[in-house]
Amino acid sequence: MLSVKSFTFNPFQENTYIVFDDETLDAAIIDPGCSNSSEENALAEFISRRNLKVRYLLNTHCHIDHVLGNTFCKNTYQVQLYIHQNEISILDSVTNYAPTFGINNYQGATPDQFLVEGQTITIGNATLKVIFTPGHAPGHVAFYEEKEGLIIVGDTLFFESIGRTDLPGGNFKTLETTIRTKLYTLPAAVIVYPGHGPKTSIGYEKLNNPFVNAQ
Ligand SMILES: [Zn+2]
Repeated sequence: MLSVKSFTFNPFQENTYIVFDDETLDAAIIDPGCSNSSEENALAEFISRRNLKVRYLLNTHCHIDHVLGNTFCKNTYQVQLYIHQNEISILDSVTNYAPTFGINNYQGATPDQFLVEGQTITIGNATLKVIFTPGHAPGHVAFYEEKEGLIIVGDTLFFESIGRTDLPGGNFKTLETTIRTKLYTLPAAVIVYPGHGPKTSIGYEKLNNPFVNAQ
C-alpha cells in the first residue's frame, strides 16, 4: 500500500509530501519545501525512522515554495531531480527572486530528468502516472496512483479553491481546462493532496469548488 506523509514547510505554508510503499519502503519526495535546518531535520528524521529508501525527487512545478529543499534532498539521498521541461526557466528564476522574499540562503538544484505526460514512476508496488496539468505554471504536473485512488496535484486544485494564475506562465483558461479535463474526469473518490491546505477529493471539489465546478 502507498502511504502519504505530509509536512507543512516554509513561510508559504507549502505541503511537502513523502509517498512510500509500506511493504518495500521505497519512497519518493515530492516538492520539498524545507527552508531551514529544523525543517530539513523533520523530513530526514521521518525517513530514517521509517527506514525509507528514497528513490526519486519529484517537483510538481518549480515555484520557490516547492523547491527550497531540492538541493538538501539531492545531497542527502543522492537522488535525481525530475521536473517538466517547461519548468526550467521557472526553476532558474528562483535564484533571482528568492532574496525579495527574505530567503538569502537558497541554493538552486539542477534538474536531471524531464517528466512527460503519461510517464510512469514505480515506487515499490505502486505506480505514479504523470499527468500534465498546466495553468498555474507552464510545466505543472500531477502524480496519480490509480489503484490507490490518490493524486498529488501541487497548486492546481485546492480544498474549495484553485491555484493562482497571475504569476509568470499562469493562465486561468488553461488551468480551468486542466481541472475539467484532467482532474474532474478522475473517479469521484480519488483523494486529492494539494500543495497548500488540507486534502480533499475529486467528487467534493466538483460539487463545492467555487472557482471551477461541475454544476
Ligand atoms: Zn506554485
